[in-house]
Amino acid sequence: MMLYRMKLSIERSFESMHDLTKEYEEFRFRLRGKYQKIALEGYCRTCDLRRNVALHYLNYVKRFILVAKNEIRVKCPICKTKDSIIIPYLF
Ligand SMILES: [Zn+2]
Repeated sequence: MMLYRMKLSIERSFESMHDLTKEYEEFRFRLRGKYQKIALEGYCRTCDLRRNVALHYLNYVKRFILVAKNEIRVKCPICKTKDSIIIPYLF
């Protein structure tokens, strides 16, 4: 339950800070039951397009809070380029 609240809270802040696409909303809806996964939208520098990424909450916490970076970079699920997707920091 706590995880689910954290997921919703991160996704909601993400929603309020970005102009989200319909694809992201559908992606988020599909992940609604997976409380360990956080639905995020980033920008792939290789594809030159916005991409949806499901990040495990532990990765999210580790990368943003412990590493204290203002963005995270993840591998693009479409073009498979490492660290190609940039997701901005939320809090
Ligand atoms: Zn890509």
